[in-house]
Amino acid sequence: MDNRNTPANTWIDALTTEHVKRLRPYESARRLFSASTKSGDANSQVWLNANEAPVADEFRVNSEVFNRYPDCQPEELISAYASYCGLENRQVITTRGADEGIELIIRGFCDAGKDSVLICPPTYGMYAISAQTFNVGVEKAQLKPDFSLDLQAIEQYVDKVKVVFLCSPNNPTGTRLSEDDVIAVLNMFKNKAVVVLDEAYIEFDAEHAKTNLLAQFDNLVILRTLSKAFALAGIRCGFVLSNPIIAKVLMKVIAPYPVPAPVAQIATSALSESGIAHMRNRVQDLQAGMVFITDALQQHGEVEIVGDTKANFVLFRHEANAELMDYLVDHDMIIRNQSKQISLHNCLRITVGSEKENHALIHLINDFFKRKAA
Ligand SMILES: *Cc1c(COP(=O)(O)O)cnc(C)c1O
Repeated sequence: MDNRNTPANTWIDALTTEHVKRLRPYESARRLFSASTKSGDANSQVWLNANEAPVADEFRVNSEVFNRYPDCQPEELISAYASYCGLENRQVITTRGADEGIELIIRGFCDAGKDSVLICPPTYGMYAISAQTFNVGVEKAQLKPDFSLDLQAIEQYVDKVKVVFLCSPNNPTGTRLSEDDVIAVLNMFKNKAVVVLDEAYIEFDAEHAKTNLLAQFDNLVILRTLSKAFALAGIRCGFVLSNPIIAKVLMKVIAPYPVPAPVAQIATSALSESGIAHMRNRVQDLQAGMVFITDALQQHGEVEIVGDTKANFVLFRHEANAELMDYLVDHDMIIRNQSKQISLHNCLRITVGSEKENHALIHLINDFFKRKAA
């Protein structure tokens, strides 16, 4: 935020903690392109920048209970999610999105000004930002050129970090971590650190869920969300899966009423048998859209698909990425620039949209290259 024009704020500055002064907030897709940042009509824009689902479902809520505070952990919702992933209720915590899960883990296990977490970039930005918000250090063990884990680099941090963040399928590379590597990291940090496996996109790679490892490794924590495959980013609902002892620690630092009653109702209904079947159909449609987009991109010789397509987005590299991004934004097609991330120079990320949106996108990209060639 630009505060050059705000009136004298020296006393507020003096009050603000040093680490918050240093903090650069997360540039969420919605902050970068909110409905108001562009003069254009938000309704005419196509948003393929935040890995959301393209179409919303309809839900009914029961407002009869809205005068009461909700349960901290609504039983029906916990049971529905536990049954969805084959776990016991006491292994499941529901949170205000997976982002709150990240925060709870850092608050539960890291001493401000003293401890650190380990991230493996390029990866999801909130691990580092959440840590910095609490004045917790951020160490980095960069992914290898093929985006697999660099186990030797990670091993340097045993005894130096309290939490390790892994992500599979990884955002923004769309790559899956090998089970052997995840197990190697769990063993490395056994009795020493919590290993978080962020499975925000696991429905797009469902056979590779690692929930089975929870029984074997008591330092594993898995993050889940309804924001991606379940098409519910707007309700803010996520889950933390862990052994009951870690769950108890997290329950100490959670807000008293993290999940609003309408959210719990909608989420429970999305996790019904028909809700899950509907989600699986959506995943299939999006996977077909993914094939369409990657095939079309590959028609352009200089476009390089980067990483893999195990989630609901495609990452690609092109020298003229900035120009292409501007061209698309000018035509109300909003995608995400990832070129500032470690090892992702010249990379853009496209979220798979509806069939119509995907066609409009490819039409514009083809136009761009035609004009460039002319
Ligand atoms: C979108 C995303 C999240 C955040 O999910 P919410 O439940 O919407 O907070 C967490 N991790 C990754 C890797 C994501 O891409």
